[in-house]
Amino acid sequence: MAGIEVTALHKRYPDGTVAVDHVDLSIGDGELFVMLGPSGCGKTTTLRAIAGLERQTTGDIRIGDTLVNDLPPAERDIAMVFQFYALYPHLRTRDNLAFPLRAEGLPKAEVRERVDEAARLMRLGPLLDRRPHRLSGGEQQRVALARALVRRPRAFLMDEPLTNLDAELRADMRTEIKHLQGELGTTMVYVTHDQVEAMSLGHRIAILNKGRVEQIGTPLEVYDRPASLFCAAFIGSPPMNLIEVEVADGKLRSQGGLVLPPPPSLPRDRRLVAGVRPEALEVTEPGAERSAPGRVVSAEWLGDEVIAVVDHGGRRDVRVRMPPTVRFAAGAPVGLRHTGGPPPVYDVSTEELVA
Ligand code: ATP
Repeated sequence: MAGIEVTALHKRYPDGTVAVDHVDLSIGDGELFVMLGPSGCGKTTTLRAIAGLERQTTGDIRIGDTLVNDLPPAERDIAMVFQFYALYPHLRTRDNLAFPLRAEGLPKAEVRERVDEAARLMRLGPLLDRRPHRLSGGEQQRVALARALVRRPRAFLMDEPLTNLDAELRADMRTEIKHLQGELGTTMVYVTHDQVEAMSLGHRIAILNKGRVEQIGTPLEVYDRPASLFCAAFIGSPPMNLIEVEVADGKLRSQGGLVLPPPPSLPRDRRLVAGVRPEALEVTEPGAERSAPGRVVSAEWLGDEVIAVVDHGGRRDVRVRMPPTVRFAAGAPVGLRHTGGPPPVYDVSTEELVA
């Protein structure tokens, strides 16, 4: 097994597109590392460069102690799983799994042993004699994962492997992948544009934007303190409310009079925006203590919670997460109150976290 070091990775395609812009990643041995970002941010290009399927323009990639820049994919000792399963349609599951091992020329007994182990781990026993057309999408994906497993690579690279599955199956497979990675302890780099997937899977997450890394941190770190306005808007559903604030009497105050606890130190003479999670706000009776005036625009009832949209301080989109039992009438005057600790604060001009 091995960690992966990506240093100043830069990829410019022949047409001039810069897909990856000096990216540094230090992925630990045994880590489940997620690359997250919107379409076109450079996730796939980075992953393909690690796999050796794409040659970087400049920069270094190390897997374990080996500088792999000049090694072809087959010599990097990694296994890649894509969004499309690409099983051999004419082969039974058993032979789909055995194929890469036979290609390596492993002895028959060892092939059998490894196939049995991967089948056990991915619970494929009853499916070993079926061909792909008799497998469901989720089963095919499990076979594809098992086929990556049998090779016992130093690292797994996964590019949106669950995209084609329905929501329920995706959640199941997510659990399975996480469990499997934990059991095997094999380094995994997992690419997704789905923040829920990233949060639930990753030991750490790298958030990419326009070919650059905006933040690397644990799910908790990127949720609590997004490093930039981009990350703040990207993580969380619904995302943070980004509310312009001023510093007055040692407190943060929004235009509409919402008072927030201040972080320990704040830069002076800057336009500032506070990142306020919907669950750090509550809707109160109008005029309640420490509340600022607002008006309900609408409310979305989701079964286990309600997301209320409140008109406050000249904007009509402040989102508040409330228990499902609370009822809202559109247009009703309400109070808006902050309940959490000091929010992260961003400089409007640099778009970066400043406190
Ligand atoms: P998605 O989630 O949509 O797959 P991504 O984050 O994986 O996106 P990449 O596929 O790495 O992004 O693409 C990054 C940028 O590079 C995009 O602007 C894309 O259009 C561009 N790009 C990708 N492949 C090529 C290519 N072969 N030639 C030119 N530009 C490319």
